Amino acid sequence: SPARTKSTRLFRRAVPVFPGGVTRATVEKDPIPFYVAYGEGAYLVDVDGNRLLDLNNNFTTLIHGHGFEPVRQAASDLMRTGTCFANPTQHEIGLAELLVDRIPAIEQVRFVNSGTEAVMFAIKAARAFTGRPGIVRVEGAYHGAYDWAEAGQAVASNPDDRAAISRAIPAYHGTPASVADDVHLIRFNDVDGLEQRLHALRDRVACLLIDPMPSRAGLLHPNATFIEALSSAARKHGILIIADEVLNLRQGYAGASPRYGLTPDLVTAGKIIGGGFPIGAIGGREEIMRVFGTQVNKPLLLQGGTFSANPVSMVAGRVAMEAMTHDSFNHLEALGERLRDGLRSSISRVDAPFSVTGAASLFRIHPKTNAPTEFREALLSDAEGLVMRGLARHFLQCGILLPHGAAASLSTPMTNSDIDLILAAFDDFLSVHAANERA
Ligand code: PMP
Repeated sequence: SPARTKSTRLFRRAVPVFPGGVTRATVEKDPIPFYVAYGEGAYLVDVDGNRLLDLNNNFTTLIHGHGFEPVRQAASDLMRTGTCFANPTQHEIGLAELLVDRIPAIEQVRFVNSGTEAVMFAIKAARAFTGRPGIVRVEGAYHGAYDWAEAGQAVASNPDDRAAISRAIPAYHGTPASVADDVHLIRFNDVDGLEQRLHALRDRVACLLIDPMPSRAGLLHPNATFIEALSSAARKHGILIIADEVLNLRQGYAGASPRYGLTPDLVTAGKIIGGGFPIGAIGGREEIMRVFGTQVNKPLLLQGGTFSANPVSMVAGRVAMEAMTHDSFNHLEALGERLRDGLRSSISRVDAPFSVTGAASLFRIHPKTNAPTEFREALLSDAEGLVMRGLARHFLQCGILLPHGAAASLSTPMTNSDIDLILAAFDDFLSVHAANERA
């Protein structure tokens, strides 16, 4: 197992100053986190000198891996001129133009600092535009920490009780119970009764919030019939569609929605569009984006933020995105296919109880014989959780950092030999796993 001496020492200092010893809940600890010294292309090196192929990429953000030279150069040039101003800079226009140019649903943009904020303002925009308070969202999907976006799991004493499933519960202690009144849940890929549900909710909900391939829910592949049914029902009832592409924008030059036949009214973005610096964006049709402001009237909806559109994120994001040419996306697509195909053939070769989901540069391994199509199918039993923990540990021993509760991602500096390293580690794991199962 990789050495953890220096990480252990750092964690000992962190425990008294951070609740749980960490400053974000998503840090994977087994049993302690390892502290990063630096990143280098597709790899990162921790403070104990362990070098790991990074499949986390700061939760899919770093599409070019670490220390991408054009971003490093542009950000350091920019920093000589200052890092944030109350006035606008030219840099925000460049990134906005790029997004408007590439993403069909985006005519106008507002920048914020995180995906959470992007989703929050998209929901507020939909409410301001429609005059309705509620949202419809997919059970189990992750959309950041805005209370309404976060209330994602149903009251499910009886999983077959559809009325129960439709009611969200506040995600965490301290969320007002009333939040649930305005959050209505649907199940991914479930068209049964969808039209009737949206019909019944039409006067109460502003938007349908959907991640085209929800990652926390299992990196689930959307069925065309589901996308069609929800799109036509939403259109029919004047419910705006918000595509949350904070994570999945990395699926292609035009983002994820066009891949799956989704034509959203609003899109949220984040992660890759900041080139490794904090960012979020809300984009959409001009008619809707108008709620954020017109030249003459006071806006229907106030959206600000001290660091919003800070020039460092704007410049880094533009440079990173400009480097994401069609060729770069094709490269990632090919690597992703090679990896998912390879993982699947390893699984079928030994008939192992695993499956793989994902698309483009994203993948997720499930300890399930059938690839989940819905959140509840992706939920892990305690035993399956242990299997995934074992997989992540095995990968660490092979020099690979695999996020096990979230989507894993590839980066442009990766090559076929990195993919083969992952496949070899997985093959090795499967033979050990099979031997353990037999024992
Ligand atoms: N929406 C989706 C789909 C996400 O994956 C995430 C982050 N993983 C968020 C929103 C929240 O973004 P952030 O962490 O930047 O607040």
